[in-house]
Amino acid sequence: MTRWTDLERTDDFDSVRFSAVCAVGRGVRMHLPQLMQATHRKTKPSWAQIIEDLDHELSRPTGASLDPKQYVAFAKEGLRSLMKSWAKQNPALRTALGEIVNQVKVFQPGELRKHIQDLHDQGIRLGKRCVSEWGGRRAKQLVDVVPNAEMRFARSDTVNAMTTYCDKHRAPISVTLVLGKGDRLFQNLLKSYLSLEFYFFHEFLSHQFPLWDDPSGSFSEGYLFALEKSFFQAKCHELVGGFALHPFLVNENIADHRAKSNEGSRDSDYYQQFEGLYAWLSGNCSDRTFAGLLLELAATRPANQGRRQFNFFEILETAATHNRSDVPNRLSAAGVDFDLAYQILLQELPPFPPSLSRSRKVAA
Ligand SMILES: [Zn+2]
Repeated sequence: MTRWTDLERTDDFDSVRFSAVCAVGRGVRMHLPQLMQATHRKTKPSWAQIIEDLDHELSRPTGASLDPKQYVAFAKEGLRSLMKSWAKQNPALRTALGEIVNQVKVFQPGELRKHIQDLHDQGIRLGKRCVSEWGGRRAKQLVDVVPNAEMRFARSDTVNAMTTYCDKHRAPISVTLVLGKGDRLFQNLLKSYLSLEFYFFHEFLSHQFPLWDDPSGSFSEGYLFALEKSFFQAKCHELVGGFALHPFLVNENIADHRAKSNEGSRDSDYYQQFEGLYAWLSGNCSDRTFAGLLLELAATRPANQGRRQFNFFEILETAATHNRSDVPNRLSAAGVDFDLAYQILLQELPPFPPSLSRSRKVAA
């Protein structure tokens, strides 16, 4: 495993450019609200186009320099030319870009690691906040004793831009920031950097916090992921520098990632279906009941190879597929107590149609 300090190598071409992109990104992040406010609801230039242009600018190979200042200067030049081209049509954008240019500074030794760690802390804080606002008794008890994770760093040949990864099976628990290599590293790297709080929020709530996961990842990458998107949408303005439009950017980044990393695999569509199920179930349960149940479920140690968890989702998925709105109604009556909700699903529901023999077997 690479040491965390290796994130800031000064003798490696990719590391130096990574640091430069983060330096530009840090400036963009400080004025992202202004940038997006000046461009959203506009087709030209849209904020997405600006971020993509900048990403493109930063990804251009500029010779094998090991001086981050050169890359940063290059990006500033790109920003200034954008300022010029939109000065007349969009003065607010011009101002925002000008502020960004002023804020972009290369990282001092140790500063980038600290910065990424700060973003990690923000992700964890959001995760804890989510449990304290939406969780029930068990989840709230568990969140107080989740051990801290150690930050690590790795490189990978197969990752686009960067990703994060939580290993909770070895002590101490660790969260690894994984950077791609060469050209892969610079695919939407800026957009990924601007979404890091969400990545870390996900690592905490989907992986570090729960006492279990199902082998297919439908809980962590499906249901909990959908819950995280909805909490992020509702609460991202509470992050340092956070604001209501940030989830648009994060969602685009997630979509890019899923599309790219799953070329030729079933994962993208497979996980997507849980977002639909989550929307139906949470939309038809009373206020936050379904989110609360998911968090309680995360904090419930599985017995019998997770049979209760498995049954719970089987019944819910069948209910959603067959528009059984009586199911969310009953769940709402139980509140976020998972044991009670489970008993209700098993005992009080009228039987499902005979064709659903699988569910009948589960419910028996
Ligand atoms: Zn995950």
